[in-house]
Amino acid sequence: MAERKFWNEKIENMSKDELMDLRMKKLREQLEYCYKNPFYKQKFKEAGFEPGDIKTWEDFRKIPVLMNKEIERKSRDESMEKYHHPIGMHLCAPITEIIGAYHTSGTTGLPTFSYTFTKHDLDVWCEGFHRMYWRMGLRAGDRVMFALGMGTYVTNAMLPTFERYGIFIIPVGAEGGSKRLIEYTKLFKPQVLFCTPSYAEYLIERTPSIAGIEAHELGFERVIVCGEPGFGIPSVRQKLLDGFKCKMYEFWAPMAEAYGCSCDAKEYAGMHEVAPDYSIYAEDLVDPKTKEPIEVKDGVVGEGVITSLERYGLPLVKYALGDIIQVFTSPCECGYPGVRVKVIGRSDDLLIVKGVNIYPSTIRDVVNSFIPEVTGAMKIILTERPPRVAPPLKLKVEYGEGIDMSRLEDLEKRIKAKMHEHRVTPEIEWVPPGSLGRTEKKTQIFEKLYEEK
Ligand SMILES: [Zn+2]
Repeated sequence: MAERKFWNEKIENMSKDELMDLRMKKLREQLEYCYKNPFYKQKFKEAGFEPGDIKTWEDFRKIPVLMNKEIERKSRDESMEKYHHPIGMHLCAPITEIIGAYHTSGTTGLPTFSYTFTKHDLDVWCEGFHRMYWRMGLRAGDRVMFALGMGTYVTNAMLPTFERYGIFIIPVGAEGGSKRLIEYTKLFKPQVLFCTPSYAEYLIERTPSIAGIEAHELGFERVIVCGEPGFGIPSVRQKLLDGFKCKMYEFWAPMAEAYGCSCDAKEYAGMHEVAPDYSIYAEDLVDPKTKEPIEVKDGVVGEGVITSLERYGLPLVKYALGDIIQVFTSPCECGYPGVRVKVIGRSDDLLIVKGVNIYPSTIRDVVNSFIPEVTGAMKIILTERPPRVAPPLKLKVEYGEGIDMSRLEDLEKRIKAKMHEHRVTPEIEWVPPGSLGRTEKKTQIFEKLYEEK
């Protein structure tokens, strides 16, 4: 018997109209639920609406952005003062119903516990993750080498999803180091590797010297990456595919709400949204600067705004996440339905050079297209706080192994010409291969020469 196509045939295969009806019904219930919370009641009032006013999709799109990281932090500080817990004034369920509270990595100072959940919320996110696992070819009984950073939301939220799915997880984590990862891979022969794209790149480079074999000889059948936009960059994706010679996928689940994973399309086609019944995200885009709604059509770029559709602990309503995404609405060659999302960068990463907007991922893509003349490792040098960059934009780029130094001038000209297509002309400082360092965690693309506040 052929395997079923979807984890949840009923929901994932719904017609557009049925799905829209379901989403609007759930949206109205979610708004009514949030309205009982004084924080949200106040926010709705300020924006000039009550839950009953939101009857159509157009009504919903007109609601302005109500939340962002800064407002979330304020909400946390206020609840510490008033209720002596750090979860936030927008906690909508009684705290006795909360069974966990996690935050993301990369936080300096006191984190915001954005991933605060009730038992029902955990059921929902298991369902969201399981839909992605199914599409990425994971099956009960698989063994997974888990090499994402431990102790963050991603890990804590994912461990129960693996357990319920029936997966044997080997939690070495990024901090376990590549030597241990390789040792345990030899012992347990996991079929699947979960890591960041930069860690996957790092393993391709390091495995030969640690184990005397190539990365693809570790025997993974699937490598699944998340946490950074790298997989959407054609040259990075190609490098990873060549290095592991197996199926590769990318997934994300911002706020454990907007679940999406890539597919088997020949060229990278973005991540298919798998749970439009649990949140609104990719179809609610705003301009990153003005926060005005943008019309969503195939290929459009904007900042995604998230609204929960079935969240009880810490629901989000019109939360501007700060991720700049490109949305594709055209049918995908793989045959799976739903809009697709490509992550372009963070709105905080936006650089403006002489009035031209450019994201680090675009610059990295251009530089990487010159591999093997360059190694692909590079830094963007910032002498002042972004987004404004005093021209010229300065880059440090590693030249490729064994390259003839007299060719660097010509190479620089070619990179500049290609960057010029994006209306930015950088200045390049050449550095030897390996000198920019490799990391097992997220790679920092900026070298900041200014003082952080
Ligand atoms: Zn597809």
